[in-house]
Amino acid sequence: MKITTTFISLLLFFSSQAQNKLTENNSENPCITDVEYAELQKQISENLKHLPQSGYRGASVTLNWPLKPAAGLTDCSYYNIAAYVDHDAAVGPFKDFNCGTNSYDGHRGTDIATWPFNFYKMDNDLVEVIAAADGTIIAVHDGEFDRNCSSNNLTANYVMIQHSDGSTALYWHMKKNSVTQKIVGQTVVAGEKLGVVGSSGSASGPHLHFEVWAGADVSTRIDPFAGNCNSLNQNSWWASQKAAKETGVVRASVHSTDIVLPGCPTTETLNESSIYEMPFQGPGLPAGYAKFYIFIRDEINGMSGTMSILNPDQSTFATWTYTSTADNKIKTFGWSKKLPTVAGTYTFKATYNGVTCSSTFDMTTAAGVSALVSEEKFSVYPNPSSGVITLETAMVGGQVIFFYNILGAKVYEAKITSSKTEINLGNQSGVYFYQLTSPDQQTTTGKIVIR
Ligand SMILES: [Zn+2]
Repeated sequence: MKITTTFISLLLFFSSQAQNKLTENNSENPCITDVEYAELQKQISENLKHLPQSGYRGASVTLNWPLKPAAGLTDCSYYNIAAYVDHDAAVGPFKDFNCGTNSYDGHRGTDIATWPFNFYKMDNDLVEVIAAADGTIIAVHDGEFDRNCSSNNLTANYVMIQHSDGSTALYWHMKKNSVTQKIVGQTVVAGEKLGVVGSSGSASGPHLHFEVWAGADVSTRIDPFAGNCNSLNQNSWWASQKAAKETGVVRASVHSTDIVLPGCPTTETLNESSIYEMPFQGPGLPAGYAKFYIFIRDEINGMSGTMSILNPDQSTFATWTYTSTADNKIKTFGWSKKLPTVAGTYTFKATYNGVTCSSTFDMTTAAGVSALVSEEKFSVYPNPSSGVITLETAMVGGQVIFFYNILGAKVYEAKITSSKTEINLGNQSGVYFYQLTSPDQQTTTGKIVIR
């Protein structure tokens, strides 16, 4: 027990808190300016003249969540609510449907921000905007700059969809050139990809502004969330309404050194790795240490979380706790922790508010990845190579391969869609590690050398 206590205090010495970035629009920085609303209104009124109309028949449509993680995103969740609809009619004060203050004055939509690593997610198309319900496109626009950080007069990349009951939904701020190729008048089905979350238009960072109208005019706007302070409509429009606060860990991950969170619009550097070759030396860290990060959404002051590193047999290698000292919409926290020294696959697990999130990482020896290489029919050749390699597998369908350099930085990733895939890692000589993950989360790892 004594040893453990000393061990933990030593580890705490190396703990650190990453900067928390929260990008949000506000009343001085609205998602959609009055000029934009007028322009949009004009456009859809014109478009609707040429489309068959079903007419407003009340709130019969139910909405599904308008975002989904792309196939390559393995985080436990990927968003936080930056602002709900404002239900305080007065100029100045604001309140959300739940009588809280997660809104801004005059806000007519729900701002769903991607998090953590919002520009990384945008660059890699990791969070998709999808149709919340079946409908017909009544406005669509693409081609606008998508790395805005503050208020501006630019328009966004967007789609507006009219549902069978005459209600409409607006999807705003999407990534440039990600918007559906469909045109006004074409139909979409619930769940269909409309684009990728971006920061086009008047945005302070990548997020979806999702706005719902009961009709085809902004004066009929509603809030899909039902709650005591919803002044616009009684019933929820969601097929399944999410909690106003979704407190929990959205990501628990292991990194070869500190993550880098530059300001908007620079893409974050994750320095994430799931393979650690012994002896491991992370830049700026004590020998044999790595950084263990947790990402908490809707943090509650005073609440404690538990982190554990589990051995390959699921017994505990290390465990520690974290206690929140403030309410925060998002919180990033990282610790330097000593890595295990026996080869194998380990789990980093974090639990907060009863929500558990975990990820695995491999400790490997210099001789290769030893016991970890599975029997899957899979080969990477030639090895050593000049940088161009072929990946051959008998099992095709949904596998993802990652290549890491010796520092644990990811240098390449691809989805395997055929039995033979040529990969060009460039001619930077050195040792690289690969990790192939099958759709059922089985991983195969290995080492290659580029000369
Ligand atoms: Zn908004």
